[in-house]
Amino acid sequence: MPRSLAREQDILARRPPKRPPRLTSHRIGIHTSTAGGVHNAAERAFRLGCNTLQIFSSSPRQWAPYELSESQCAEMIRLRANYDLKPLVIHTNYLVNLASSNELFLQKSIEAFRGEVERALFLCAEYLVLHPGSFRGADREQGLLRTAAAIAAATKGLDLAEGGLTILIENTAGSEFSLGGNFEQVAEILDRLRGAVPIAACIDTCHTHVAGYDIVSEEGLYATLTHLDQTIGLNNVRVLHCNDAKAARGSKLDRHQQIGKGTIGIEPFRILLNDLRLAHAAFIAETPIDKPGDDRRNIEALKKLVS
Ligand SMILES: [Zn+2]
Ligand SMILES: [Zn+2]
Repeated sequence: MPRSLAREQDILARRPPKRPPRLTSHRIGIHTSTAGGVHNAAERAFRLGCNTLQIFSSSPRQWAPYELSESQCAEMIRLRANYDLKPLVIHTNYLVNLASSNELFLQKSIEAFRGEVERALFLCAEYLVLHPGSFRGADREQGLLRTAAAIAAATKGLDLAEGGLTILIENTAGSEFSLGGNFEQVAEILDRLRGAVPIAACIDTCHTHVAGYDIVSEEGLYATLTHLDQTIGLNNVRVLHCNDAKAARGSKLDRHQQIGKGTIGIEPFRILLNDLRLAHAAFIAETPIDKPGDDRRNIEALKKLVS
């Protein structure tokens, strides 16, 4: 998270809301800064008008986990109950690569991912989102097998079901060597782990679009949803990352854009938010903050689409 975003969200957190946030039956939120302590994210998310949120529990591009005290976890739980913020989604650190063909890196990733699971359990998070990894140095099928085995190894002895925690495999932009660029690959990981660990999927609109699926034309979006249902299953899509895209469909370039201002446009988000088959899912933006207030504007934009 850019420092400017944390600062902007800090200012918002200190300012009392002018009016009560608009309520919706949908779960709509945004990736939120944990600056000053993980529990602060709950206060920020509420002030931004969210009823769900996503956070990192470690620095996204460093191995060091955030410090999590018992009091911070308790405060997070208290604030979430107060503000009816659910689910709590944690996004795994970007360095973790559970498909790595380098044995040392794989071990480091398994250890780090175990830490992610433990922190998610401490925080009583419902979901932990994971990118399936990069298979450079091996083939795709080996990569998928390695990721599934690494998730099983990292969660060994931890009771995720008891803690109400589900791991969500996120589809990716599908750049060279990255797993999860199509729904079949995500489905394969889910199939391999079903029964061993609570597992489902997170679908990112920007990744889906730049990976090549048509979600822009109404006909294309419905065909993509049908395909998603036949592979992963819409009931297994627990989080939708709502991001517009800066790059073209099929470009494999993962650059998020404000809702309605990119190559996807506003209408596909309206259809997704109002499709009853996805009503159970949390809709979470990971949009850039180019100027102050963009986070609030993107949440408002999504909420306005719900009819
Ligand atoms: Zn995402
Ligand atoms: Zn992305």
